[in-house]
Amino acid sequence: MWQAEVSVDLDAIRDNVARLRAGTSAAVMAVVKGDGYGHGMVPAARAALAGGATWLGVCTLDEALGLRRAGITAPVLAWLLSPGLPLHEGVANDIDLSAASLGQLDEMVAAGERAQRPTRVHLKIDTGLSRGGATADDWPALVEAAAKAQADGAIEIIGVWSHFVYADAPGHETIDHQLDQFRNALAVAERLGVRPQLRHIANSAATLTRPDAHFDLVRPGIAVYGLSPIPGVQFGLRPAMTARARVMLTKRVPAGTGVSYGHTYTTTRETTLAVVPLGYADGVPRHASNIGPVSIDGVRHTIAGRVCMDQIVLDVGDQPVAPGDVATLFGNGGPSADDWAAAIDTINYEIVTRFGSTRVPRVYH
Ligand code: PLP
Repeated sequence: MWQAEVSVDLDAIRDNVARLRAGTSAAVMAVVKGDGYGHGMVPAARAALAGGATWLGVCTLDEALGLRRAGITAPVLAWLLSPGLPLHEGVANDIDLSAASLGQLDEMVAAGERAQRPTRVHLKIDTGLSRGGATADDWPALVEAAAKAQADGAIEIIGVWSHFVYADAPGHETIDHQLDQFRNALAVAERLGVRPQLRHIANSAATLTRPDAHFDLVRPGIAVYGLSPIPGVQFGLRPAMTARARVMLTKRVPAGTGVSYGHTYTTTRETTLAVVPLGYADGVPRHASNIGPVSIDGVRHTIAGRVCMDQIVLDVGDQPVAPGDVATLFGNGGPSADDWAAAIDTINYEIVTRFGSTRVPRVYH
């Protein structure tokens, strides 16, 4: 008998990827960083590969090596690399690395020499996000240095890539502008003799709404897990995660009863309180106090009073709730991660990611 669980439907991940795959002629890189957006990096990666993804995307070298340790041999790109990392371990394990500066490129050349094979590099151009990526001014020097390193046999240039600012707002003027910048960067590279096998810029939103941004490979993340990258727009994907717990205790209380720390909620009539063993240590945001939706047997309630570290309380009125009944925070049979995101003014990405790696057992089916 379980007390609380985050259950992950791996078939949903597989089917979501198959759907994305069917919508493009580009290769699909499933993004499994952040512990697979909370779904578990390795199981999510396996399910995504089963659905037709041929690449995996992660941020850190550790994540990439974790995929290899799990026996996953598919191509992997890691793109968040601070100086001084043992990049040669990445090279030795066939991890593709992203370079956005001459300093990073130097490290990748050194890593290739140490691993005695060329480092597989994706050159990143900043087309407007002002995050990772070389500026347009720095781009020619980066490409030139990379071309020279490739000619020396130290690296192999696999990709040229970038990332959108506003793909979740279809029609936003930055999208076309970034695509222009990306094409310019590719033209500059070509003039310098660099023609990458893989050009990629599309996240989930661009994968779903901008076929002209697919190029050779798309990099969906949130859509893999069945959630929409665009609030309010559904794409027929199946959410993979459900977070739920069994009611621990119920009690009948009179009107005027203050609930949880600080008594920020007071009952207005005689009612039943249900105590649910999930709190902020388990991923429930504390600012969901008095606003987070939870359903029991299809009836939706709002968290009554403050979210505690380990528990929340629901005012279920006269609903016949008993200890052991299942309270669903989001997912199958309950509110959605989107409902939670709307309630607490965040994005569905944060909701599923924060429920991922906690003490709550994650189960797969
Ligand atoms: N590519 C990069 C570089 C990212 O950082 C991310 C996630 O933030 C993705 C792709 C996937 O984005 P999304 O989850 O919106 O599809």
